Amino acid sequence: MRGLEDSTVFITGGASGIGRATAVRLAEEGATVVVTDVDEEGGRETVSEVENVGGEATFHELDVRDYEAFESLIEATADRHGGVDVLFNNAGVGEAKSFEETTPEHRDRLFDINVTGVWNGCHAVQSVMRDSSGGSIINTSSMAGWVPAEITTYAMTKAAVLHFTRSVAQELGQDGIRINAVCPGTIETPMFETFYGDKVKKTMRRKNALNRHGQPEEVAACVAFLASDDASFVTGRAIKVDGGYV
Ligand code: NAD
Repeated sequence: MRGLEDSTVFITGGASGIGRATAVRLAEEGATVVVTDVDEEGGRETVSEVENVGGEATFHELDVRDYEAFESLIEATADRHGGVDVLFNNAGVGEAKSFEETTPEHRDRLFDINVTGVWNGCHAVQSVMRDSSGGSIINTSSMAGWVPAEITTYAMTKAAVLHFTRSVAQELGQDGIRINAVCPGTIETPMFETFYGDKVKKTMRRKNALNRHGQPEEVAACVAFLASDDASFVTGRAIKVDGGYV
């Protein structure tokens, strides 16, 4: 497999933004896509968009915080498709709250979805990928995982994803499992639209070498590379798709 023909791709947070664009992109490259999310309506819309480009996809409701549900859906996918070749741990939440405004409940929600959700996916898929002699996992971090930003709690979760990715790649590499992170900059998705006010968005755009915000399809292109055998010697890495911001 060089591209993604005949591969099975499992995406979390596939009902919107980067997850949806990636579902469409990987389907265009020949993958069968399992779209998962807590948002059923958006997930079904993603399936329609995949079908509109001639691809194949199914939707399954999944909250990434639920380890048992994650594991059983991975196993059901492997039984149905003969394995899981690619896992895109993309589901995430964020709000531009200052440290002062952040409550312990808010902290726990961000950590449970952005970090534990990624851990759950990697842990749940490892035996299935081992059985097929390998696979590719892509975890979504952020440019906020690299640079100090006034979104401390969100940034903390995304930095945790970076270090987890580097560590787990060392442990699972011997089984042929590659694990990398993608670090989006400011990408025009529903999350981004509600994250910052217009003034902050403008300032961030100016700090970006390309002087524009990115599109979800530009992150999807990077995920497509990391998912494919073109990245066969790439693991434990983090690729920034941030227009030169960091
Ligand atoms: P989005 O809000 O458009 O999509 C996120 C999806 O995750 C939604 O469909 C949502 O329903 C789903 N989700 C939320 N909680 C979930 C849960 N518990 N279980 C399963 N699914 C859940 O946002 P996006 O911008 O496409 O973000 C995708 C990823 O990219 C996130 O991890 C985000 O932190 C990261 N990111 C985004 C940007 C950006 O500028 N848009 C920048 C850096 C990183």
